Amino acid sequence: MTRLIDGKAIAADLRARVAEAVAELADRDISPGLATVLVGDDPASRVYVRNKIRMCAEVGIRSIEHAPDADISEGELLDLVDRLNADPDVDGILVQLPLPAGVDSARVTEAIDPVKDVDGFHTTNAGRLSAGLDAMVPCTPAGCMILLRSVCPDPTGKRAIVVGRSNIVGKPVAQLLLAAHCTVTIAHSRTVDLDERCREADIVIAAVGRAEMIKGGWIGPGATVIDVGINRIEGADGKGRLVGDVEFETAKEVAGAITPVPGGVGPMTIACLLRNTAIAACRRRGMDPPEAVRLS
Ligand code: NDP
Repeated sequence: MTRLIDGKAIAADLRARVAEAVAELADRDISPGLATVLVGDDPASRVYVRNKIRMCAEVGIRSIEHAPDADISEGELLDLVDRLNADPDVDGILVQLPLPAGVDSARVTEAIDPVKDVDGFHTTNAGRLSAGLDAMVPCTPAGCMILLRSVCPDPTGKRAIVVGRSNIVGKPVAQLLLAAHCTVTIAHSRTVDLDERCREADIVIAAVGRAEMIKGGWIGPGATVIDVGINRIEGADGKGRLVGDVEFETAKEVAGAITPVPGGVGPMTIACLLRNTAIAACRRRGMDPPEAVRLS
């Protein structure tokens, strides 16, 4: 029987643990705060940031909202990041990507104090993660690992393939799998015989951004499939619907466990962002995070 990995329920459980940790911090007069920076009026970015702010409120994290116009210069944005770095009331800084043309996203990301880098995109955090040191772990990869461990608590020795090598998903999730003692293959657009490489794997993490590219026939019997992809396609009824990078209907026939889209990795990303904010609030003060949000 294929197990459906319920990202909604697992994310709700993580948010409850973050709320518990935030309450524990309140007893010590610490009130974690997340600064969100939404540049311009990209509709998708607006929705993402609104959801993040709503979820912050639900777990007791303060939001500090900044929404500069799309014509903000790179210099002005860097000044804003500097102010947030220096602000003692700000524990985490989230600059919603993508940024408007003309602003160098990498430069803005690098300007964030690594301790406040709750997205985990700063090269200091990427480097620390790959060196096996304490780091701010990017949210979606962290979420993938929690979902994986919900069905495979100890993945030691498993063969894992990560399809996709982006800095925000593919590479960090591969590092986390390596840290969990998996044997890791990282595949990308130049990989030869990708279907065969996937079939050999016990764990398939799909982070490609191509609707239903990975077919059921590419999945080995009993493998665990974590589908990061979020793609909007037009259904037979002409209405838009969301699908992953894996062809769910065929893959669920062979997989041992699989995440749905929506309702799999998606909800984990925000829950991990909240957790990172609570962790940042502690690390900034030289404290260990409460047990409820410690990274495993
Ligand atoms: P990127 O576009 O940055 O990276 C995609 C990767 O897939 C690249 O490494 C690319 O290879 C690889 N790729 C593209 N085509 C193929 C192919 N035909 N065969 C094999 N590999 C291929 O995407 P992201 O990592 O940012 O995102 C991946 C997916 O995850 C997207 O659907 C995105 O929407 C989703 N996502 C979901 C999140 C969530 O919260 N659930 C959060 C972030 C992303 P190459 O490097 O060679 O070009």
